[in-house]
Amino acid sequence: MYLHGTSTINAQGHLEIGGCDVTSLKETFGTPLYIVDEQLVRQRCREFIDAFKQTGLKYQVAYASKAFCVKAMCLLVEEEGMSLDVVSDGELYTALQAGFPPERIHFHGNNKTPDEIEMAIDARIGCFVVDNLVELHILQAIAAGKGQKVNILLRVTPGVEAHTHEYISTGQTDSKFGFDIGNGSAYEAVKLASSQSNLQLLGLHSHIGSQIFEVDGFQVAAERVAAFAREVHEGLNVVFSVINLGGGFGIRYTEEDTPLQVAEYVKAIAESVRTHFAGIGPELPEIWIEPGRSIIGDAGTTLYTVGTTKDIPGVRKYVSVDGGMTDNPRPALYDAKYEALLANRAGEPETETVSIAGKCCESGDMLIWDVNLPEVNQGDLLAVASTGAYNYSMASNYNRIRRPGVVFVKDGEASLVVRRETYEDIVRNDLVPERIGRQMVSK
Ligand SMILES: *Cc1c(COP(=O)(O)O)cnc(C)c1O
Repeated sequence: MYLHGTSTINAQGHLEIGGCDVTSLKETFGTPLYIVDEQLVRQRCREFIDAFKQTGLKYQVAYASKAFCVKAMCLLVEEEGMSLDVVSDGELYTALQAGFPPERIHFHGNNKTPDEIEMAIDARIGCFVVDNLVELHILQAIAAGKGQKVNILLRVTPGVEAHTHEYISTGQTDSKFGFDIGNGSAYEAVKLASSQSNLQLLGLHSHIGSQIFEVDGFQVAAERVAAFAREVHEGLNVVFSVINLGGGFGIRYTEEDTPLQVAEYVKAIAESVRTHFAGIGPELPEIWIEPGRSIIGDAGTTLYTVGTTKDIPGVRKYVSVDGGMTDNPRPALYDAKYEALLANRAGEPETETVSIAGKCCESGDMLIWDVNLPEVNQGDLLAVASTGAYNYSMASNYNRIRRPGVVFVKDGEASLVVRRETYEDIVRNDLVPERIGRQMVSK
């Protein structure tokens, strides 16, 4: 397994992250446990911010909180000078509870409810990324009712879909998100939005995909959004002060993944904006981007304890751990690949190929197919790398399994930022109606 950030193997052959030996993290916090390398998270934030500083352009880097949204994380990115994207009332509530400055919160989503819109206006968030006409009208009406003027971007689909190693140019975009540039709906939306008395149209937003390893998709998106901005400038005399090019910067899950340095994405984006937006309006727009996975993804490691094994001679050896699709649904959902390490005997040679199974009642509850490890026994500790993004945030209580805790580690100090769920948490919302259970057949 590739060792990210501060991860090392110590003299005892134990995995150590943030100066903390994972065998003692197990003693203190139990397993499964999400471990976050705090220094690596801060380093990723700084890579984005520093790269933008060097461009000399105005910018905002908004952490896409859906990747991992808890109070400590909101405050950490705040401290690093980032803005914050939210997609629901729950994420907004978390950010506000944490004390994140509302003016640096951006609200996304293709179906914001009137209640969510009202909550966000009342909180005086910085910007709504408007996805469709229904939302545009609701937002105008609610803002007018409150006598407020709210900042908006319009989400557009530029007809670029970025995948890991290439982008696909799609003429007409078949997507649930945003206004299509190609079919004229984006133009109509700009016309309408710029005439609404309670909406301040700052600019455009485009997000072309995730786990992207090349810059060309961003360059083509910037070019198309710029061509559209030019058309709007000439046709409607509307000038955009903000261009948001979304997130999707790739990270390393396995050795097959070859992400670029953060600075290379930023440099390419800034150059494209400089080139294509030159001459549209009096000055270049401010660039906003929205990294999620690339801020927190490779800083996370999940620690499990090995339980049972099943060796089918000539076929496969299954090694079961005390978590699974409940704490990491990505392999089951997307066939996502991960690497693992025997964290209590990390120095030993790898002598067998095994597959890592979760403990849920689903044959599809597999975390890793075919990983090379030293001989694995009951009680060993297994570490799975790059689980910081879309793991805790997608975790469930399937099989009524308690969600693990999350610990931030730095300089030998381990601090819980989410405590592990308790049995009480599991039944907290259960109610039993009066008519049920009165005639229990108890002998
Ligand atoms: C999910 C999402 C992001 C973040 O994507 P990552 O792949 O985690 O960087 C950014 N912007 C929007 C609009 C998104 O939906």
